[in-house]
Amino acid sequence: MTPGYKPRNRAPNRPARDLPALLGDDADLLVRGGRIHTVDATDSVATAIAVRDGVIVATDAAAEALSAREVVQLDGRTAIPGVNDAHLHAAWLGARWPHLFFSDTPPEEQPTGRLLATADERRAALRRAWALLAELGVTSYTEPGIGPGEDRGETGCFGTDMLDAYVELHREGAQTSRVTLLRLFGTIDGESSLEDFAAGLPVPPPSTDSRWLAIPGVKIFADGIPPMATAWTSDPYPDGTTGHLLTRGDADPLSAFQQMIALAASRGLQIAVHATGDRSIEEFLTALERHGRTPPPPAPHHIVHGDLATPAQIRRAERLGVGFAVQPLIAAHTHSWAAVQLGEVRVAAAWPLAEMLSTGALTTVTSDAPIATPDWRPSLDASLALLAADGRADDAATRRRLLRTMTADAAIQDGAASWKGTLEPGKVADITVLDEDPCSPGRPFAALQVERTIVDGRTVFARG
Ligand SMILES: [Zn+2]
Repeated sequence: MTPGYKPRNRAPNRPARDLPALLGDDADLLVRGGRIHTVDATDSVATAIAVRDGVIVATDAAAEALSAREVVQLDGRTAIPGVNDAHLHAAWLGARWPHLFFSDTPPEEQPTGRLLATADERRAALRRAWALLAELGVTSYTEPGIGPGEDRGETGCFGTDMLDAYVELHREGAQTSRVTLLRLFGTIDGESSLEDFAAGLPVPPPSTDSRWLAIPGVKIFADGIPPMATAWTSDPYPDGTTGHLLTRGDADPLSAFQQMIALAASRGLQIAVHATGDRSIEEFLTALERHGRTPPPPAPHHIVHGDLATPAQIRRAERLGVGFAVQPLIAAHTHSWAAVQLGEVRVAAAWPLAEMLSTGALTTVTSDAPIATPDWRPSLDASLALLAADGRADDAATRRRLLRTMTADAAIQDGAASWKGTLEPGKVADITVLDEDPCSPGRPFAALQVERTIVDGRTVFARG
């Protein structure tokens, strides 16, 4: 069992002997004795962090000067901000675990059909995912697509019932990961109708503490994936097709898509669009240019996958403040499969991570688990491989940049950069302790051990 977060009793409920805490000279937790990558604006390294009420109150000598009820000695190990996987289907992961789509599980052993049928099963799936993520050092994630469009869905992992399970466990204080949840008014990886979207949008999401369960927006599926020749592309696949939009309405699919964007934008919602082909990416950006900036969204709109984004689209996304949530590990798994549909020239330009990172476009490296493993370490190794193919060295600067995509930049995607994602005073104490420094080049990220995971100042996983 890992302890969940408890609604906090703030200072007035402290016993009298803790009076100095009210005056600010003690801490609940001190993390010291190793290298602490703060991932702040200058990538500074701290030697100590002090935490009070789940929030970092001091670093370095100022932290060491406080007396603390609990001390975590790093003994030369390295701490980083808690890992934030900005696109991970936790309910589905918990339901399928340990079976991933890209794994050693043979096709005949892959779970099929209805995976979750009862409230207990839905709660158990979430708890299983949270325990697993705590072990992996993941302290935040985005659950991208839960809602009425999946109420009759095959797996039982994405419907309104699952939103209820989330809210229930949230209100019970059972979470060990912070969650950003996007609502879905169509089917997962499938079609959506403008009518359903327009009907669902005005239904307000349940009220929650947004530091633990934020529901800032919606997910829309624009197209499929390149290996299946279902990404909507400008250039045809070998069979002459170009893929197409998955949105449906009275008029054509494109106007249904544009109206969905306009509707969600006008309600001030964050919009995440599954778009892999250059045509769907282009139309999303065009629709956002027209509709997406007033009122400003609570968190950046973003393109999920962006496999075939062109350099011009990446620069345009940057100008519009639109991000990319990308999956380098899926790129590694599907490269040869995609090459059959795209040809060598186009596949060489696919998954333009180097281009995304060299611009100022917001980019998060994510797992899309349970498609690929929720373990962020192989995802960062796959990112290094993509960057190496573009001539970028495996050095400390590259590694720091990649670390940012799963911490500070993921917090920006969540609209939460003011209070999480870096280890600075005023930010929540979500911390992942690793056996060695992930920024030292030459060693695969996958060789790092997660030693301890701290969420909101509480240890939710400790090795051994
Ligand atoms: Zn996904």
